[in-house]
Amino acid sequence: MIATAPSITTSTGAQSGVAVHPGQANSLHLTEIPRGEPGPDQVQIRVRQVGVCGTDREIIHASFGTAPPGEASLVIGHEMLGEVTAVGAGVQGFVPGELVTATVRRPDGCPACLAGQPDMCQWLQYTERGIAGLHGFMTESVVEDARWVVGVPREIEHVGVLVEPISVVEKALRQANLIQHRIASWNPRTALVLGAGPIGLTGTLLLRSRGLDVVTMARRPAPHLAAEIVIASGARYVSMQETSIRDIAAELPPLDLIFEATGSAEPGFAAMEILGNNGVLMLISGVGGAAALSVAAADIYRSLLRGNKVIAGSVNSSREDFALAVADLTRWEDLWPGLAARLITRRLAGLTDYARILERPEGDIKTIVEVG
Ligand SMILES: [Zn+2]
Repeated sequence: MIATAPSITTSTGAQSGVAVHPGQANSLHLTEIPRGEPGPDQVQIRVRQVGVCGTDREIIHASFGTAPPGEASLVIGHEMLGEVTAVGAGVQGFVPGELVTATVRRPDGCPACLAGQPDMCQWLQYTERGIAGLHGFMTESVVEDARWVVGVPREIEHVGVLVEPISVVEKALRQANLIQHRIASWNPRTALVLGAGPIGLTGTLLLRSRGLDVVTMARRPAPHLAAEIVIASGARYVSMQETSIRDIAAELPPLDLIFEATGSAEPGFAAMEILGNNGVLMLISGVGGAAALSVAAADIYRSLLRGNKVIAGSVNSSREDFALAVADLTRWEDLWPGLAARLITRRLAGLTDYARILERPEGDIKTIVEVG
């Protein structure tokens, strides 16, 4: 007996996705997952572009990531620009042909999630597209609940894939401003951004577009593209190899706000020592490297205490932050035409080019996969 019918049925309803076997290094592969139809209050989205970030690389290196229940593979990708192809019954505000992106995290049953803030999840049992228990966007088509979908205007189509990473710095700034309601005179003027990857650079553009004086520090001495982007926004670029964080702080007015996005712990602790009085240090990026670090603990403690300083972590982002990112990207195109697009340094042609995700050419800032 030749039982071909079921496999034909499977293949017509299936699509390719770039996946890993979570916990298993070097397991990046093409998998097949079902192609979904939108149910009530759901939107079907044809994926056009997916951005790659440090989190994807950590998942590929098996540092974390979990597959959906009962599955061996996790489709990666959480930075997406797509086009609505169909909407389910009851969906309002989205029509086929419209450009969209979607938030990443889905709630568990904790109080914060129940209150509508999965980005502030307390139990950390959330699921996350392409990261924790839910397939990501590095596939041809996804079905998403309309409440997680965010419209992207055509005029920022060329940079729409950056909305998710920008939403992360939008959340960090929004959190900083919420925290700083404690200071009646809060009017930040001077900011330091540590790191010049996608988060450091979009953080620089965000703070510059809000009128702050910004110094952005990263490891490599200029000239290079990241430094050019910093300078084009009106910020100053300084190499940590040439000047210490302490020396920069000594020549600047008090630092009201610091974004830490280097990917290692040491600059964050150096930042604690030089944060201005009443200032806030936002820790935004994951860190690697050695767990132990020698710091001037008592000096840092005294300085935080005497100066009423705050250190806060900020991770993920909300729908509100996505909307802010869309609005700011649109504004940045007026302020600095073409500048945000320079963050996209590499385009992979299709899902089948997945093996090149792990390549890191010198000067690469943001790699995107052109899916459709
Ligand atoms: Zn939660």
